[in-house]
Amino acid sequence: MNQKFVYLFDEGRADMKSLLGGKGANLAEMTRAGLPVPPGFTITTEACNAFYSAGRTISPEIQQQIDAALAELEKRVGKKLGDPANPLLVSVRSGAVFSMPGMMDTILNLGLNDETVKGLAELTGNPRFAYDCYRRFIQMFSDVVLGVDHYHFEQILDQVKETRVVRHDTELTAEDWQDVIARYKELVRKETKDDFPQDPSVQLDRAIRAVFLSWNNQRAFVYRRINKIPDDLGTAVNVQMMVFGNMGDDSGTGVAFTRNPSTGEKELYGEFLVNAQGEDVVAGIRTPQPISALKEIMPEIFQQFQEIAARLEAHYKDMQDIEFTVERGKLYMLQTRSGKRTAPAAVKIAVDLVAEGLISKEEALLRVDPDGLDQLLHRRIDPDAKLQVIAKGLPASPGAASGQVVFDADLADKLAGEGKKVILVRPETTPEDIHGMVAAQGIVTSRGGMTSHAAVVARGMGKPCICGCESLRIDLRAKQFAVDDHVVKEGDWISIDGATGRVLLGEVPLIDPVLSPEFKQLLEWADEVRQIDVRANADNPEDALKAREFGAQGIGLCRTEHMFMAIDRVPIVQEMILAETDEERRRALDKLLPMQQGDFEGILRAMEGLPVTIRLLDPPLHEFLPNLEELLVELTKLRMQEDADREQIREKENLLRKVRALHEFNPMLGHRGCRLGMTFPEIYEMQVVAIFRATAKLRQEGIDARPEVMIPLVGHVNELRIMRELVVEKANQVMEETGQRFEYTIGTMIEIPRAALTADEIATEADFFSFGTNDLTQTTFGFSRDDAEGKFLHQYVQHKVLPDNPFAVLDQTGVGKLIQMAEQLGRSVKPDLKLGICGEHGGEKSSIEFCYKTGLNYVSCSPFRVPIARLAAAQATIKHRK
Ligand code: ADP
Ligand code: MG
Ligand code: MG
Repeated sequence: MNQKFVYLFDEGRADMKSLLGGKGANLAEMTRAGLPVPPGFTITTEACNAFYSAGRTISPEIQQQIDAALAELEKRVGKKLGDPANPLLVSVRSGAVFSMPGMMDTILNLGLNDETVKGLAELTGNPRFAYDCYRRFIQMFSDVVLGVDHYHFEQILDQVKETRVVRHDTELTAEDWQDVIARYKELVRKETKDDFPQDPSVQLDRAIRAVFLSWNNQRAFVYRRINKIPDDLGTAVNVQMMVFGNMGDDSGTGVAFTRNPSTGEKELYGEFLVNAQGEDVVAGIRTPQPISALKEIMPEIFQQFQEIAARLEAHYKDMQDIEFTVERGKLYMLQTRSGKRTAPAAVKIAVDLVAEGLISKEEALLRVDPDGLDQLLHRRIDPDAKLQVIAKGLPASPGAASGQVVFDADLADKLAGEGKKVILVRPETTPEDIHGMVAAQGIVTSRGGMTSHAAVVARGMGKPCICGCESLRIDLRAKQFAVDDHVVKEGDWISIDGATGRVLLGEVPLIDPVLSPEFKQLLEWADEVRQIDVRANADNPEDALKAREFGAQGIGLCRTEHMFMAIDRVPIVQEMILAETDEERRRALDKLLPMQQGDFEGILRAMEGLPVTIRLLDPPLHEFLPNLEELLVELTKLRMQEDADREQIREKENLLRKVRALHEFNPMLGHRGCRLGMTFPEIYEMQVVAIFRATAKLRQEGIDARPEVMIPLVGHVNELRIMRELVVEKANQVMEETGQRFEYTIGTMIEIPRAALTADEIATEADFFSFGTNDLTQTTFGFSRDDAEGKFLHQYVQHKVLPDNPFAVLDQTGVGKLIQMAEQLGRSVKPDLKLGICGEHGGEKSSIEFCYKTGLNYVSCSPFRVPIARLAAAQATIKHRK
């Protein structure tokens, strides 16, 4: 049999979307369901592809099928295209598989010409209506097919309205429209050097081609790239008999959602415009009425529409976005599709549909996009507030905050200590600003991108942050910033919206995130089905408690370096690093020990009964020392002073020597991770003793503390073996000294390819593996993240060299292969080896899916992403259940 390129509406179905496009498939489905849909046919996406492979021509075979479908349509409705006595008018509507705003605009009233328009006038006894249709058709066809811009037509229309002294189109008469039409045709002749096509079959042919061609216009192309839609899907074309909402006050057109798309409330939501056609409702030419008004104007239509809306919802089992038209008191359905909705609405609708018995819990779980939930987990600006936006930067970390401007981390820390709310404004941030970031409500930087220090740290903390806000001219000396002609001084109030990147003047009302009852319900269902645990990355008790509140089942990564960076500890840490003798170093470590113990007590207490994976010190030591260049400047200044303090100079020189000694050519691959523990075992010993003393103390209080000690950056089993011995020895020592027995485990990060490649060896020394996918991605690709993201990665993604940024979305084929290999090798020697992921990928849905499929026991992500991960984990389980 020949390939079928054209389907009448009653030959299609909703599940033929890829062939008929979304619009066509749903028109067919509604037709089958017996709803009042004007008849028509759909030319398939395959015809579109055939059009392109034949060198942009419609083959005779396809043309013949189109002609046959048109003849059948004419027969069914008893009208003929181009017949002046009884003309068939049609709309030509593009319809891709995925809704694509870039595609060709719909052409209405096709089939009108100088003759048929008279027929239409006579037939309806309504010349005004007929000429209104014709002028609309000329304008749409000329714009879309002939390339004569709308704007020219609007100008003519405005002129005519002005000379007739009327405001609305509806006030123009048949004669006015005839005048408009004459001018339109003249415009077309002038612009295209040709007459407006009068032959309806030529009109139809050109319209169909234009739809095909629009598949490859620039707008569509860009849209597909942004939304990752393949270029070879093609678009379908729908040719449909016209119905007319512009036939008088018993006619009209409208759009409606079956539920409120911003709240999810179960109520018809939409607008209706009397005596109007097509896009008039949304074009804003007159103010439409809310759909509820239809109840008064056309009570019967309203009731019928309500019934149909309910039927469509029940049929599609989802909230629908519906287009309809009323022609002289008769209702027609022109489109239905699943409606776009906000995240809160998505959650409410999914849960409500379960309660209404329309979908199962699992379907509800699949209905909500985890990515959208981000906005529900942060504070927002009250949508009713009046705002004065003064600048816009990158939306680096979502959430909103108000506070007084400070330009210095120490001051931020001090003021916050006094109970003040502050926003930290800096050109950029460094690890030395951490305490200020902790203290601030939010952070703004004038430099740096979405992966700058400020952005990454703020996201981890769940704090609002705007980066790269380049229009802010920050003057740190004068303690102010300027933007346009606003000057904002230290202490002035500003507000920021990290979800949009807006900086606002003054304090604005904020709304706290509340997990709605529906959201909580959905997450409970997620917990019922998911077969992979969700933990959080948290470094302090507050974050740990937040994570617990959001449903985390443990801490997957507790970094200890932030504990070293607290303002009162930096001098001691420096003392430890600068120590010339073991004796000196021990003294410094002894001072740090009780502080660390306190840190661990706090976090283990917060996570009582749940596992806490504590990673021993990871970054290179120079990160705790002053910056080399700054030090040089200081020293030079000191030396130039007449009354310089010799002792101070000697101290600085000493520091400089040490900083130089610790300088590395490539710190990321340098002296860090367990390599520190190997060369300075006393540092790790101190940390381990602190962990176990904290554990013993909590146990004494009857608190179930469950530490898991994690050794970073292992590449060879010998490293882990030696570090394991160190940990075991200290554990025994603490048990002896406290008389407490406690359980603990020892594991390692897998973040160096060699560790994955030799995971069977490494597993002999490990109770668990935790995939540190940030470093594993760096070391697998040989990318240094900061350099890659700052320099070339963006281009790679844009030109599709890489499908995604591998630091955001796990590279399953490369990095993922190492993870799979480590899983297999590791479990081949230790079948119950526990596996988790603690890189940023642990909160990303496609990476979570991969982790589930690979057999990991848990994912770990920032506390604020825990609910997102719970949902994503449930979706992964439903899709790939074992
Ligand atoms: P879009 O994809 O941009 O929504 P549509 O193809 O749905 O474009 O059509 C644009 C407008 O024209 C809509 O308001 C639609 O309801 C209306 N329309 C489309 N076809 C017809 C028709 N056969 N009769 C009356 N109105 C129509
Ligand atoms: Mg539409
Ligand atoms: Mg690492």
